[in-house]
Amino acid sequence: MSRCRSIFLLIALFSFVISLHASAGDADPVYRSCVAQCEESGCVGDKCFQHCKFSTDGKPFDSPLHMQEPLYLRWKQWDCQSDCRYHCMLSREEERNKIGQSPIKYHGKWPFQRIYGIQEPASVAFSALNLAVQFHGWVSFFILLYYKLPLKPNKGTFYEYTGLWHIYGLLSMNSWFWSAVFHSRDVELTEKLDYSSAVALLGFSLILALMRAFNVRDEAARVMVSAPLIAFVTTHILYLNFYKLDYGLNMKVCVVMAIAQLITWAVWAGVSGHPSRWKVWTVVVGGGLAMLLEVYDFPPYKGLVDAHALWHASTIPLSFLWWSFIRDDAEYRTAALLKKTK
Ligand SMILES: [Zn+2]
Repeated sequence: MSRCRSIFLLIALFSFVISLHASAGDADPVYRSCVAQCEESGCVGDKCFQHCKFSTDGKPFDSPLHMQEPLYLRWKQWDCQSDCRYHCMLSREEERNKIGQSPIKYHGKWPFQRIYGIQEPASVAFSALNLAVQFHGWVSFFILLYYKLPLKPNKGTFYEYTGLWHIYGLLSMNSWFWSAVFHSRDVELTEKLDYSSAVALLGFSLILALMRAFNVRDEAARVMVSAPLIAFVTTHILYLNFYKLDYGLNMKVCVVMAIAQLITWAVWAGVSGHPSRWKVWTVVVGGGLAMLLEVYDFPPYKGLVDAHALWHASTIPLSFLWWSFIRDDAEYRTAALLKKTK
């Protein structure tokens, strides 16, 4: 029973792509009239925005004046509408806070305080730390294999999954990089890059789980296992990017891929009697507990740290432990193979 529960907890860990896009705050009539007024006057209270100047004096947004804006501002897509929405949200939240109401979502997102133009500073910081942990894990794995463990005469490693974990490391780092970018500035492009990277990582980790659990070492067999999965994941990513960014469908795809790999890892850890199986199980349970943060999606404390940010924080120690398991596995397999050849 407890293993069954672990499986469900692990499912939660890997289905991190799930994101809710409901919007309650932008239906608020006070907020709506504030945005409408701001887009005409260019001001909220005594704060006025330069992006709104260009429309109030009758010039269209693509006037030469607008084109002279600094490139970094245009890249970040700061415009009159986003300035108005942000400041109307802040002033509305301040009013709500005064009468003791808790924060609500605007356009599918919690009201965050920006720091230096970064939308969700805590999530960005934790994504960057995750990136650092992944990098550390990957480099230490590399050093262990090529400098500490014995190598074959052709300089290859005895461990059969070296290449696969290298790809895993690169995909993880890529995924955390785009997560940091997306939480800095949420626009269509950064959102697609974040989602696509996460789906690619999830798909590849499923392939890896199957290869490791079923001891697929033969080149031809590896191609046969991975080809249909790679084709499916590629099609799904193309669908999200060029046809429809369908959150519901993406969630289903991610949950199915997650369930498959979680069952694989959880069962394998028990059946194989791997010496470091407790690390696998700790990641399973820890990830499940962390996932509760995504389920109880609470608003940001002081406009900074919300449930999603804490969830990104929790994957930092889990990733650390996971790479430790990967290194243990490399040592364990290498020792077993050396024993066999002797
Ligand atoms: Zn995130």
